[in-house]
Amino acid sequence: MSEKKGFIAEVKSETGVNVNRCYQCGKCSAGCALNESMDYPPSVVMRMLQTNSAENVSKVLRSQAIWLCVSCQNCLTRCPMQVDIPQLMDYLRVQALAKKTVNKKSKKIVAFHRAFLDSIKYTGRLYEVGLVAGYKARTFDLLQDLNVAPRMLIKGKLPLLPEMVKGKKQLKKFFR
Ligand code: SF4
Ligand code: SF4
Repeated sequence: MSEKKGFIAEVKSETGVNVNRCYQCGKCSAGCALNESMDYPPSVVMRMLQTNSAENVSKVLRSQAIWLCVSCQNCLTRCPMQVDIPQLMDYLRVQALAKKTVNKKSKKIVAFHRAFLDSIKYTGRLYEVGLVAGYKARTFDLLQDLNVAPRMLIKGKLPLLPEMVKGKKQLKKFFR
């Protein structure tokens, strides 16, 4: 990260999101269902980034907030300046993974995030059995929800083999 231009410029060039458009009205935080569980609500994340200080950027990249965001788009819908916070949060998650600053309390969410992306990467769609296996292998939480699996299998909700999409080349390109 260039310290002079800072993280704001990096975010703008990588995602198109202009952090400085935010004028701190707070509508995003008021409408965010996860607000109360977050260490920094979305409008506070925006303010911290606006300071462009390495210390605040680091706090944001170590926060739980970026992993609790479920990309529901509620904040974007409410924002009078159309600041794309979900897009920004996605970028912050990628940066936290790259810089190895993932919040310790968010490890299970990250395990799910990685297992989900692996499923899409290898099959082109969500393969539930692979998702669960990938999640459990990362968390060692082997017994969680185990009682649900037999019922789902009987009802045909858990296909044992993945369905693959046709456009494998495009999928690879997409992930690159
Ligand atoms: S709703 Fe938009 S302008 Fe208002 S605080 Fe959130 S990001 Fe900033
Ligand atoms: S997209 Fe994320 S930050 Fe925005 S309202 Fe939804 S959960 Fe909250």
